[in-house]
Amino acid sequence: MSDAGLVRAMNADLHCHSTVSDGWLLPGDVVRRAARNGVEVLALTDHDEVSGLDEAQAAAEAESLHLVNGVEISVSFLGETVHIVGLGIDHHDPALLAGLAQVRGGRDERARRMSEALAEVGIRGALEGARRFARNPELVSRAHFARHLVSTGLMPDVNTVFRHYLTKGKPGFVEHVWASLDEAVGWIRGAGGIAVVAHPARYRFSNAELEQLFDRFVACGGEGVEVVSGAHSDDDVARFATLARRRGLLASRASDFHGEHESPVDLGRCASLPPDLAPVWASLLR
Ligand code: AMP
Ligand code: MN
Ligand code: MN
Ligand code: MN
Repeated sequence: MSDAGLVRAMNADLHCHSTVSDGWLLPGDVVRRAARNGVEVLALTDHDEVSGLDEAQAAAEAESLHLVNGVEISVSFLGETVHIVGLGIDHHDPALLAGLAQVRGGRDERARRMSEALAEVGIRGALEGARRFARNPELVSRAHFARHLVSTGLMPDVNTVFRHYLTKGKPGFVEHVWASLDEAVGWIRGAGGIAVVAHPARYRFSNAELEQLFDRFVACGGEGVEVVSGAHSDDDVARFATLARRRGLLASRASDFHGEHESPVDLGRCASLPPDLAPVWASLLR
């Protein structure tokens, strides 16, 4: 096989989470689980946070696994939350670190407001409960609220909590303004990384709005899209493969693994990319 063919055939998983954000496993344990599952190129991409990367790199050195430094940045675009993954970043870049600190800074107030909103429908103590599930006090996510509400027996699983309480229009949802798309892509590029639109099928956008997202993303220097994602159906993969071809975007493959009982796809167990697409990891391994 050619070098390009060998790189394409690698088991790459370029999006997952550790306890530094809303994953269940410590950064080193994420890496060891990935290695056990046969992952050859892994990116740890915690929400708005890079503090797990040193531990993950140390673990990757002990395994035969290439760890790409990553992050998943929360962005507001057309009133929706959009996630932009940064791959191959310098995680000591001052502007990136300042930007991420600013995004994390908004989470505390948001968590307080979510807890107040839940109290209004009779659910008390949600913030304290969510905090017990958050290993990083700066990173309380809706996932931690959901886990708390499952642990109290109110709801059977986190998906049900999201459906009833934590999505737009539901009692525990509060509007929040994250980074702008331009800021997030700018921080990633400034840190030497490649910006990738995460799980594009998840956004509640019309086709026209989705095109606006990608127009703007490309205009500010974004280069990739998750074609294969743990959140995507086969139809979604086909749809975003078409988009990647049409826009000449690099394609990513991503489980978005958070934990064994919470994620539909385990580390490295995603479908393969359609063979004609340019795998983003080819650019990261150079
Ligand atoms: P946040 O960044 O605080 O808004 O939380 C978003 C996180 O919540 C996502 O990264 C997922 O981990 C989790 N999440 C979002 N929607 C769902 C859902 N429908 N079911 C389970 N987890 C979800
Ligand atoms: Mn998450
Ligand atoms: Mn996401
Ligand atoms: Mn994610």
